[in-house]
Amino acid sequence: MKINITSFEQLKQSFKLTEAESSYSGGNNSLPISITSHYLSLIDENDPDDPLRKQVFPTSFEEVEENMEYIDPLAEVNHSITNRLVHRYKSRVAFLTTDICPMYCRHCFRRRFTGNMVGPATEKEIVEAAEYVKDHPEVTEILLTGGDLLTLSNKQLDFLIKTFRERSPKLIMRICTRMVITAPERIDDELLSILKKHSTAPFYLLTQVNHPRELCEKSIEAISKFIDMGIPALNQTVMLKGVNDDVDVQEELCNKLLFNRIKPYYVFQGDLVSGTAHLRVNLGDTIKIERELRKRVSGLAMPNFVSDLPQGGGKVPLSDCYVKEHVGNRWVLETLDGERREYPDTY
Ligand SMILES: *Cc1c(COP(=O)(O)O)cnc(C)c1O
Ligand code: SF4
Repeated sequence: MKINITSFEQLKQSFKLTEAESSYSGGNNSLPISITSHYLSLIDENDPDDPLRKQVFPTSFEEVEENMEYIDPLAEVNHSITNRLVHRYKSRVAFLTTDICPMYCRHCFRRRFTGNMVGPATEKEIVEAAEYVKDHPEVTEILLTGGDLLTLSNKQLDFLIKTFRERSPKLIMRICTRMVITAPERIDDELLSILKKHSTAPFYLLTQVNHPRELCEKSIEAISKFIDMGIPALNQTVMLKGVNDDVDVQEELCNKLLFNRIKPYYVFQGDLVSGTAHLRVNLGDTIKIERELRKRVSGLAMPNFVSDLPQGGGKVPLSDCYVKEHVGNRWVLETLDGERREYPDTY
């Protein structure tokens, strides 16, 4: 039985580290080190290039700052109503319930916030956010995110959900958590009964699975508990160099998700966050993978590839352009195989 790793010292003592890993010094904007015993049990210790290891073992590459990188590339701070509530899109808000995660992903795009050990939102902050949402009826969805929402105790979660639902009974809630992957044992009956108790509007489960091996039996079981009680599950993947920047891996992941009733929702191009350049994939490669994946998997298994643009530009789809030109009264389009077809205007 493996134990949780919670410091660099402990990591050094437990594993034979690569040069890049052992030269990590925890410089600027460093994210804490934490790897759950569950996730460790999925890592192949003998493979320094293991795609799961790459997501959680820190390296000195994190200390490199590149041009055009930001600490808050999505300008969430500018769109913040309070220090916890982000209102970037008219119809939905994101509530940063806590900055704590059971495990810290080295690619985390919310490094400005995550792992600062501030802890869960206070009851006062929750009430303020809920009042804001109540006063903005155009908001129909809330993303309960962080950090990881499920690091909250069941009692704290009950209060959080109740406070929003009392004021906005029809508010759709997204449970954004990676805990089903990092610590699937967290999904207990009490948690599920709390969700059931507050079901005046739907919940959706939003997970982050980046590699098919992360979707092990225990995680599938944890996610199934939500789905079995009527909570649809969707997945968001982050494009990561050496982890999933390969169409075979993406194909296997999408099909495995779909088979386990998890809809592939988004694949994110890596945000321009300082300390994550070594994990970013070239945009051109992402678009090539998207195009090839579209040929291989069903419409149900196909996620939307998106980039959350710098300086708070918001999410835009990433895909090749199949609409080539408009000449006279005809459109010229391209098939997935690169052939041309025409489509006339109507009158
Ligand atoms: C991504 C995001 C959302 C949700 O966007 P969808 O496209 O509806 O999934 C909401 N708020 C913020 C700040 C986001 O970054
Ligand atoms: S679980 Fe999410 S918020 Fe937490 S470190 Fe990973 S990417 Fe960041």
